[in-house]
Amino acid sequence: MKEKLLLLISIQECDSQLVKLSAKKIKLPEKIRKMEEAFQAYKENIELNKRKYDALKAKHGESEAQVKKLNDGMIKAKERLLEVKNNKEYQAMLKEIETAEKTRGDLESQIIALMEEMDKLFILVKKDEETLQQATAKHEEEKKIVEDDLSAVDADTVSWAEKRVGLQNIIPSDLLARYEKIKKRNQGVGVIPVWKAVCSGCHMNIPAHLYNELQRTNDLLSCPNCNRIMYFQNQEKSA
Ligand SMILES: [Zn+2]
Repeated sequence: MKEKLLLLISIQECDSQLVKLSAKKIKLPEKIRKMEEAFQAYKENIELNKRKYDALKAKHGESEAQVKKLNDGMIKAKERLLEVKNNKEYQAMLKEIETAEKTRGDLESQIIALMEEMDKLFILVKKDEETLQQATAKHEEEKKIVEDDLSAVDADTVSWAEKRVGLQNIIPSDLLARYEKIKKRNQGVGVIPVWKAVCSGCHMNIPAHLYNELQRTNDLLSCPNCNRIMYFQNQEKSA
């Protein structure tokens, strides 16, 4: 193939790769962010039982503390009972102790009920923890693939940009200008393969005489429809 055309094909490859890379640079962090969001939502949901369990545990602790306080109060009340002088005061204190005992009884029943509920939840929490552990490992693995992809973007961009600079320096400036102009008007693609008389840029048919000429000439020919610089490429061979 003609040297000039090969240079244009190479610079087109650089430009196409650079476009892809800059799209990745935007798309991949967004993809990572969405993966994180989805995982956080999943995690919050699967941790519902754990939060419920923690709330019950806190309540259990509070009830235990209340029982202890009541017990302390009752010990003191019973001590004071021995020092009481008149019957009226004595009856009042007995009533006080009786009320405290009833409250303690209620609290103890509550504690038993709480513990039963906690036991049931604990089984679910353990199961959820296992599920979450597996899901976390899977999530991290999937995220790492995207992160690795993203971290390769910068290095790849540098290498394609360097290659492009090298080509820019050897492509005649008028040809480069022509390529840039066509590329700008055609969504970043200035050079395009043609096979079976069809332009792979605009997918229009090339007139037969032009297609014949394309396979023989040393001139750079443009697609009559999209104006991109054409080159003949046997796509059955390259595939
Ligand atoms: Zn075309």
